[in-house]
Amino acid sequence: MVGGYMGKLLWVNLSTGEIKVEQPDENLYRDFIGGYGIGARILYDRQKGGVDPLGPDNILGLITGPLTGTPAIGGTRYGVVAKSPLTLGWGDANSGGHFGPKLKFAGYDGVFFTGIADKPVYLLLDNGKAELKDASHIWGRDTYQTEDTLRAEYGSATEVACIGPAGEKLSLVACIITRHGDAAARSGLGAVMGSKKLKAVVARGDQKVPIADIKVADRLRKEHMEYLKVGMMGGMNKYGTSGHGDISALSGDTPIKNWGGIGVIDVPDVSGLHRDKMIANLERRTGCWQCPSACKGILKAGIEYPYPAGNQRVEYETIGAFGALCKNTNAESIAMASHLCNSYGMDTISAGSIIAFTMELYEHGIINKNDTDGIDLTWGNPDALVAMTEKLVKREGIGDILADGVKIAAEKIGKGAEEYAVHAGGQELAMHDPKLKGHPDQFPRHPTATVYKMDATPGRHTAGFGPDGFVRHLNNSMGTCLFVFMAPIAKDPKLRCPFAASMMSAVTGWDRSYDELLKAGERIATMRHVFTLREGINPIERFVHNRILGRPPQKEGPLAGVSCDVEAETWWNLGALDWDRVTAKPSRKKLLELGINDVAEEFWPPQPPPRFGPA
Ligand code: SF4
Repeated sequence: MVGGYMGKLLWVNLSTGEIKVEQPDENLYRDFIGGYGIGARILYDRQKGGVDPLGPDNILGLITGPLTGTPAIGGTRYGVVAKSPLTLGWGDANSGGHFGPKLKFAGYDGVFFTGIADKPVYLLLDNGKAELKDASHIWGRDTYQTEDTLRAEYGSATEVACIGPAGEKLSLVACIITRHGDAAARSGLGAVMGSKKLKAVVARGDQKVPIADIKVADRLRKEHMEYLKVGMMGGMNKYGTSGHGDISALSGDTPIKNWGGIGVIDVPDVSGLHRDKMIANLERRTGCWQCPSACKGILKAGIEYPYPAGNQRVEYETIGAFGALCKNTNAESIAMASHLCNSYGMDTISAGSIIAFTMELYEHGIINKNDTDGIDLTWGNPDALVAMTEKLVKREGIGDILADGVKIAAEKIGKGAEEYAVHAGGQELAMHDPKLKGHPDQFPRHPTATVYKMDATPGRHTAGFGPDGFVRHLNNSMGTCLFVFMAPIAKDPKLRCPFAASMMSAVTGWDRSYDELLKAGERIATMRHVFTLREGINPIERFVHNRILGRPPQKEGPLAGVSCDVEAETWWNLGALDWDRVTAKPSRKKLLELGINDVAEEFWPPQPPPRFGPA
């Protein structure tokens, strides 16, 4: 086996209890790299289109990349894949932390689950051995209790990926949590895990990831360190992504007031979102496995709100969603809402977006205090925000209607609620307003409305669409952190990361150029996309709320007059990808060029030869 991979994928049939080890062909690793790349190839092969996302035939995979658990800086991540119950198309999510490396040290590149257990179980991966165990003692427990219980049982060097009550209750915005707050959050994959009655995956072990040339890999790590010192370690390791919540609220980056507001008008005083407020209650800095940036933090017990000690410091996306999106500038209430989501296992981006949606319904009288059980859900009210988040994560009262995301909630509530349900293809959006693209203050490579609309997991900003997205698919599949491993691309107009090809070669032993790796990124993008097409979803026709697009444009503020020409950008990218501009179907030529001949045959079945002469 080449370096970087453990060479084993585990298959667990939860209906029968059968556990099998598979040693994949090297071509799977070479062509699809790892993470959601391998996940997309496998799910497309082994799962039929149209399966019930919460049924036994939906395959759930947790998969690392070749650089996870290696000297590559930021090689910390694992991906989760399944058909999304939220968007009904391709679903993936990924997370840093410590679980990904530990999954490899336990002996596996990834684990796939089929079927549904007849009672709650967890999977124990123990240094090359795997066993399903009874989870009845932790079913119903929150993610902190679950992790602490299992770690007490198996030792402090154990890592646990688990769901909380939100996943057990099949909330379609439920997520998978490790270390009290590292979340594989998007696409509702916590609900898939809950539907399988799979409470947790527990990993322990000390197996070594094979490295083809450790000397070169170590040298590259040192060179990368030097690069980062000059580039970004300063603010990043002190504040992480929490450093710009206030700036983003005013610049037009953070969406305001359920995407309908303007920061400088609706939240002119953003002092409560200042970065020092976000670390005011910090107990200590922390980070993902062996990352020199250590950009995360652990909080002391809350003062104004009763979150416990050990809660992870909030990141930008959570600050945006529970902050300016709800007109809220109370930092402690954001930490409390984040704690509720982390402990119950719910995506903070979706949860904050749901609260903002509900506040707007309350403003317009579509719901009232009778519906909220007396909560005065006015904009920016931090106590109301926390109280409603508690109802949401517990599925209590109106929280039961809200817990499947704004699209489904609006359909159930009716009375015009759909007008305020801001989503793309069923998923709430990340906290970067695409209208800022083109603005002089824009961050490098600010996400575009086209990415939100067209990516296989809509509403995301960490993947991408079109040729600019290939590098992101490569990164996500290698198992590396966009912040540190791919940081160099932010400075390079050609989006070339100087460490990707060299580190991949040093780790795997395959001598591949950057362009070859980008081709793998394109193959992965295509594989995710054809999975969604096979589900009957054409992303060109996907709903994206007009507020996201600036239709009509805002009249004041930094985004005044800006509308996103999503059609033109989509049209251009479809051409660059060689995908049909009406059906979004990749051309046969492109599919063959990418070497996914089976997909070419399926999408372009051989036609009977033309007939000549009279019929
Ligand atoms: S930069 Fe932050 S998020 Fe990325 S690997 Fe390091 S600690 Fe984790």
